[in-house]
Amino acid sequence: MKKYVLSTVMAVLMLMFLLPHTGQAASSGTTITLDNQKLANADVLTVNQTTMVPIRVVSEQLGYSVKWNQAAGQVTIGSGANTVVLTINQRMASVNGALVSLTEPAMASKQTTYVPLRFVSAQMGLQVKWDNAAKNVFLFTAGNPNAGQIGATPSVPSDGGNLTPIVTPVGDKAQLQAISFSDNRLMVTTDKLVTVKDSVLTGPNRILLELSNTGFGPALGNGLAVGDVGTISTDSASNISQVRYFVPKSNPNVVQVVIDLKSANTYKLSKEGTSVFVSLDKVAAPNTNVGGNGKKVLVIDAGHGAHDPGAVGNGIREKDINLAIALKVEAIMKKNPKVDVVMSRSDDTFLELKERVRVAKNVKADVFISIHNNSGSAAASGTETYYQRDSSKTLATTLHKYILAATGFKDRKVQYGNFHVIRETDMPAALLEIGFVSNAGDASQLKNDAFQQRVAEAIAKGLLEYMGV
Ligand SMILES: [Zn+2]
Repeated sequence: MKKYVLSTVMAVLMLMFLLPHTGQAASSGTTITLDNQKLANADVLTVNQTTMVPIRVVSEQLGYSVKWNQAAGQVTIGSGANTVVLTINQRMASVNGALVSLTEPAMASKQTTYVPLRFVSAQMGLQVKWDNAAKNVFLFTAGNPNAGQIGATPSVPSDGGNLTPIVTPVGDKAQLQAISFSDNRLMVTTDKLVTVKDSVLTGPNRILLELSNTGFGPALGNGLAVGDVGTISTDSASNISQVRYFVPKSNPNVVQVVIDLKSANTYKLSKEGTSVFVSLDKVAAPNTNVGGNGKKVLVIDAGHGAHDPGAVGNGIREKDINLAIALKVEAIMKKNPKVDVVMSRSDDTFLELKERVRVAKNVKADVFISIHNNSGSAAASGTETYYQRDSSKTLATTLHKYILAATGFKDRKVQYGNFHVIRETDMPAALLEIGFVSNAGDASQLKNDAFQQRVAEAIAKGLLEYMGV
């Protein structure tokens, strides 16, 4: 089977995104008024007689919520029951989930996204009038008394026909228009809604998407015959080894997209307009390689991470201290042949609390510890250790004894604390607050490597005693 790397196709697609899709776009002398107030500096383009406005006019001047999805090239305008999704250069828009055709699609020009004004306004419930002689678009909010007065027989630009819902005839194939992978997420875009079936395959691990009644669009099908395989490059750091797409010989009416995985990985499938997303969970699927042969499984959770620094003060960030201590505990515990250590994070990444719990449950941990540092008034200082369930009390007490001796900080005791990660886990679990980032004395120690090592050794001692290994 022939293989094609998609970089040239992506380059062409990028150009399509960057350039106006038609040479006929022109700055027009058109003005826009909303309830008889001229909109300030509306930079209007006319494309094939359709009035296009920058998306910021819609958000800043018409006042509608606008969300821009760079990866998908999609603009979502409005919210709730009144939502329009436009995709750059696509003539199909989604209006409250239903497909509607556009005479002119949203477009990008000079790094600005333009949307068809009349279409968007009408969907948002504005009355639209067009004064051809004056080249003025009049918009009226519902109930405005002037709505009926202008342009009794307006000459309507050709985008007046934008509102016809499209019923896709049976046998009319959809076209696969783009595939891309970034940020642990695969995006597949077609030119119209298609049914997507997803399945998980093993040996080797892969995720299969099957797009019914779909063929290749011009950008993707270039040179690919039935049975030929196209691939896209992916981030080598991800759990994906490659993504392949092809029309199988056994069924030429579908497009299959295969995500080849390095190891089993759970995922979420979602749809937005005519795009389908496969988001790989950061947490690997249950790992059967830990805890065998009577080994105990320890999960170490370093609190916070990435955009969530935790407590900040005295020149340190809690997330960094938590991780430094966690990695030191890991190094010590890994030396014990009767323990398997699993980290919720080993670098500066962020996990939701529920993801941290899922790590522990997936590997059927015997013990879970979450490492944190505290924050409060400048005077507050000391070491405290939390449990939530009675079955975690002995673990917390054992760890606290050793940690307190190592820090030499004020004893803030073992306490009950209703924290998510020690509540929702189902094995003995403790949350450690080593010291106070907000306290100058505690902080000067916390950032010290030798101090961190001493604390890590204390935690390890407590763990080994509790686990009986
Ligand atoms: Zn914290």
